[in-house]
Amino acid sequence: MSGAMNPAQPERPARPAQPVIPVYRPDLSGNERAYVLNCMDSTWISSIGAYIGKFEAAIAGITGARHAAAVCNGTVALHLPLHCMGIGPGDEVIVPAFTYIASVNTIAQTGATPVFAESRAGDWLLDPSDVERRITARTKAIMPVHLYGAACDMAAIMEIARRRGVRVLEDAAEALGTTIHGKHVGTFGDAGSFSFFGNKTVTTGEGGMVVTDDDEFAAQLRQVKGQGQSLTRRYWHEVLGFNYRMTNICAAIGLAQTERLPQILAAKRRLATFYKETLASLPVTFQRPIEGVESADWLVSLLLPRGTDRDRLMAEMQAAGVETRPVFYPAHHMPMYRSEEHFPVAEDIAVRGISLPSFPALTDDELGRVCETLRNALRQQGKA
Ligand SMILES: *Cc1c(COP(=O)(O)O)cnc(C)c1O
Repeated sequence: MSGAMNPAQPERPARPAQPVIPVYRPDLSGNERAYVLNCMDSTWISSIGAYIGKFEAAIAGITGARHAAAVCNGTVALHLPLHCMGIGPGDEVIVPAFTYIASVNTIAQTGATPVFAESRAGDWLLDPSDVERRITARTKAIMPVHLYGAACDMAAIMEIARRRGVRVLEDAAEALGTTIHGKHVGTFGDAGSFSFFGNKTVTTGEGGMVVTDDDEFAAQLRQVKGQGQSLTRRYWHEVLGFNYRMTNICAAIGLAQTERLPQILAAKRRLATFYKETLASLPVTFQRPIEGVESADWLVSLLLPRGTDRDRLMAEMQAAGVETRPVFYPAHHMPMYRSEEHFPVAEDIAVRGISLPSFPALTDDELGRVCETLRNALRQQGKA
């Protein structure tokens, strides 16, 4: 209610004239509701039910992988294949220092040691030449992370991995819809992992998926995610297992989402192009995928000019009705992984990067407001 209509109201601090534009909001406007109600009406609400197989088939179809195994979140979608690769205490896994913490935590959860590597300045992703330098006799795997919808240099990483005899697990949590020369990320390595958290390109609320082309590995993933139970004999548990299953309700939401994936991706490509064209005159640097990469533009992210006070800029944008997000802090700065090592490129990206509102339903009007707000906030600091 406006002050004019209610003169007795004491003066409130200034609020944005329009509702704040969030960084993300899922689009659940398709069959999501109908499919969830179907779970309720049929009472198939747990981890058995028709939607799980259908959602797995949909993700296999989208990625071109032979197998897809649904799990309850994107973090266990990393832990499960690491565990099934036999990675454990005494082993090393190479992971970029600049990533979301789940990539690193899942390595530590197996008992192995995460070995950090540098990022490249253009695309902000794992630097293959630094990976090569960090391989030791203990290295068991490499975990490239496809951040913000871009894709790592998988040709270079796979060449190193095959030559040195180490496994590759792709963290593709943020990259559903991203391809390299037409081949979907997550299908270059031995296995790939996706997340369906609420702000990911396809969401199930909480959820994840592991894809692989290896029949035996797929069977192992299925057994271990279901308490290690034999796939042919109920209540016969042959190996150490976990309960990492996805519910039929989550799969129902996911299936409905995948039906509209082409529209979701088209909307995201459109908003990414809008931002890049409208902000071209500002001294900001967008993440720049390498040749051959078709980015799914998960979150449109950019580096602010050096010397910008990022916290102040983000607070000013928030006050003007636009939410933004800082990029990830590098893992080697976190208390549990703190090290004296330096990763100058990763550290530079981490202090200067922000992500802009990037959800599919954003209107031209809202995109224009985001750009204007960023321009004003940079101008306040003499940067535009
Ligand atoms: C979201 C994300 C994950 C983990 O997924 P959750 O579903 O949140 O557990 C892992 N790695 C990266 C890079 C992510 O962005």
